[in-house]
Amino acid sequence: MLAVAVRASLLGGLVALGAGAPVRTALEQMVAQAGLPVWLQPTVVVALGALALGVAGEVLAFPFVCRAEWLLARRYGQSRERFAAWWGAHARTALWTSVSWMLAAVVVYVAIGLSATRWWLVVGAAFAAGTVAVALLGPLLLRPALRARPLGRPELAARLEALARRAGAPVVGVHEWPEGPASRPNAALVGVGAARRVLLSDTMVADYSDAEIEVVLAHELAHHLHRDIWKTIAFRAAVVCAAGWVGQRVLADLGPVLGLHGAADAAGLPALALCAGGVTMAVLPAANLLSRRHERRADRFALDVTGNHEAFVSGLRRMGTEHLAEERPSRLVKWCFYSHPPVAERVAEARRHRARPRGESPRRGVAARP
Ligand SMILES: [Zn+2]
Repeated sequence: MLAVAVRASLLGGLVALGAGAPVRTALEQMVAQAGLPVWLQPTVVVALGALALGVAGEVLAFPFVCRAEWLLARRYGQSRERFAAWWGAHARTALWTSVSWMLAAVVVYVAIGLSATRWWLVVGAAFAAGTVAVALLGPLLLRPALRARPLGRPELAARLEALARRAGAPVVGVHEWPEGPASRPNAALVGVGAARRVLLSDTMVADYSDAEIEVVLAHELAHHLHRDIWKTIAFRAAVVCAAGWVGQRVLADLGPVLGLHGAADAAGLPALALCAGGVTMAVLPAANLLSRRHERRADRFALDVTGNHEAFVSGLRRMGTEHLAEERPSRLVKWCFYSHPPVAERVAEARRHRARPRGESPRRGVAARP
């Protein structure tokens, strides 16, 4: 949260000081001196401006991210990762994040070039198309998928494949990917159609019981069967459209005050980024509410198909501890920041599920293990 506040302060400060225009002029001079083709120069100015904003945000947020992701995990014995290793991985992620912001800014300014008043619709459509492509192809191209090897525990693999068949989502194999002792346990169902497979991190294979892994996978299968990812993409595309619309209004109304030469002026980047961040934060409670509904339904499904409440609760508690999750956050914290229901709520829901008479749940008895 502090990292978000620092990034927002950076953008707010740049907008308040009117720093967009002088930075844009400096970048324009630099790009012109580099001898780039004239038609390419505005795009490169936007790209460099966005990259500079992204990198500055990462640098300012670093102390807070370091404390939350590395220091606390070590202090509470959840990670033995050395600082250099953590920093290397973090720097790579931060660089990729900054490059994604750069590409997003270029897409926005290309869209503004197409229509100065309706560009936010073009940006929403481009976001939806991009995320659908990543959802379909990304998991198979990611490093974990490429480094994965068939699971060395044939009994567990057969059990998980049988579970996927019972749940109506047959898979072509269960694979393990080496992440090393520093990583947190993870399981995922990736790919589509004939390429669909289950990936388990080696830390999960080493530390979790077969029953616990089975319940975790059942939960992931539920997301897949209920098409939660597509609903999430549709919601996010709507948020991107809304953020773009707000940005378009701000540029139209405040452009002259900020010293902008029209909507396509790269000096408006900090104001646009601030609008995007503001709208994203404003809809966060609604996004989390939708996500928690998906998670609750996935939990119910996992309990229905496995019938194994003990493994569900023990796996959940272990994951909660490993991810340093707060078991009982305040209502405000839950609404603002919890994409999953708190552990205590999920455990209580599992107990209610067990106490419910058999037959009350439509899938129970059909799919439950003996
Ligand atoms: Zn989930």
